[in-house]
Amino acid sequence: MNYCSNCGSNQLVFEIPEGDNRARYMCQQCNTIHYQNPKLVVGCLPVYEDKILICRRAIAPCYGLWNLPAGYLENEETVEEGAIRETWEEANTQVEVIKLHCIYNLPHINQVYLHFLAKLKNPYFSCGSESLEVKLFEEKDIPWNHLAFSSSKFALKKYIQFKENFPGVHIGTFNEL
Ligand SMILES: [Zn+2]
Repeated sequence: MNYCSNCGSNQLVFEIPEGDNRARYMCQQCNTIHYQNPKLVVGCLPVYEDKILICRRAIAPCYGLWNLPAGYLENEETVEEGAIRETWEEANTQVEVIKLHCIYNLPHINQVYLHFLAKLKNPYFSCGSESLEVKLFEEKDIPWNHLAFSSSKFALKKYIQFKENFPGVHIGTFNEL
């Protein structure tokens, strides 16, 4: 952080505020403390009958690799709304959220993924602007070696292992796959 987003000053220090226990960017001009916290990424594991909908990325990073539809949660949006919106944007399909499927921690890049198990409302889908290809995969055809992110790998693995019979939410962390 180079400039204060409150007053525009470049008089920032990275120090532990009084009564706190970790360093924060603090503006010496207006005294604002800039707390930085992880971002939420929300998405779906969309299923139709016994198949799973996966999108091939038309954007960096991981252009050309397959991924479950997901993206950053927007302000004023619930996590379910965000997951439904991302699925609409990437795959032009409408889903109904069934349950929270997994939480996946990426502490090294300050992100937390929430993937919802969702059902396609109908078998119609197509490429959104961020997708090269959208496809329903049978379990045996999942492109394991061409998946973009470990968050999707985790969500798919747990789904295939337990289907919809797992009573809780799967919780995972990067590098503990
Ligand atoms: Zn300031």
